[in-house]
Amino acid sequence: MEIEKAKVLGFCCGVRRAVKMIETELSAGEPLAALGAIVHNSAVVNELAARGARPVSDLAQVTERVVAITAHGAPMQIFSQIEERGLRIVDTTCPIVRKVQQRAADLAEAGFTIVICGEKSHPEVKGILSWTDGKGIASLSADLELPPTNRGIALIAQTTIKQEFFADFASKLACRYNNILEIKIIDTICPETSRRYKEIEELAKRTDAIIVIGSRGSANTRNLAEIATTGNSMTYHIERASEIDPTWIEGVKKIGITAGTSTPDRLIREVMKTIKRLANFQSAGK
Ligand code: SF4
Repeated sequence: MEIEKAKVLGFCCGVRRAVKMIETELSAGEPLAALGAIVHNSAVVNELAARGARPVSDLAQVTERVVAITAHGAPMQIFSQIEERGLRIVDTTCPIVRKVQQRAADLAEAGFTIVICGEKSHPEVKGILSWTDGKGIASLSADLELPPTNRGIALIAQTTIKQEFFADFASKLACRYNNILEIKIIDTICPETSRRYKEIEELAKRTDAIIVIGSRGSANTRNLAEIATTGNSMTYHIERASEIDPTWIEGVKKIGITAGTSTPDRLIREVMKTIKRLANFQSAGK
């Protein structure tokens, strides 16, 4: 059986940078509290926790002197609250997310109502919303009731949204608000995720089955699995190698592998090893 790995898979540059920053802090010997999951992957979170990066869901739970902000960023108020408590911040917000936050702030200041095409409960979206000075709204549906605006609407995207979804959202929003003087559509989708989505679309067509590795809580991993399923019904989304069912590869000539931006190389290697072992076992049994 042939295995084709996606050309780009696993940690993106933003996640790699965030993990490195945390590791650097930990190697200096100071434990820290990580506000939220540093990476949407429990294996990585547990490894970092064992080394002293304790995950907390709320600032009130912090007993350490150092607080880490995750690659998704955090609402502005959180930064002020950390400073008020006299704690040190290790800000691992991905530079691409930071640019989107700044863009949202500039547009809000210019008087635009900001619409974020994204999951309103996602930490990245919550963070971006906080930069809009109360002039932002996040939704996955363009069927929105927006307050009256003199300046216009600016539409931006959660960085992991699929390109086609964003384009469809934009055209629906433009139709719904066709009486508004100006609608700015700004594509703030991360190039790292777009590239992976395009690649999995092709990979799904030329393989018999697809394995997507990554947390079920990771938005970009779920998108990868969804795109792969559209092109190949034999798509399996797993978090770890032990979830692989040997029947998935029975009779399969070519299998494709991809992984979300929070999936460490180690997990990808384990999955590859397991598939190879099962394939060898099955061909030996013929
Ligand atoms: S997916 Fe893109 S925006 Fe999100 S952390 Fe990675 S590089 Fe940054």
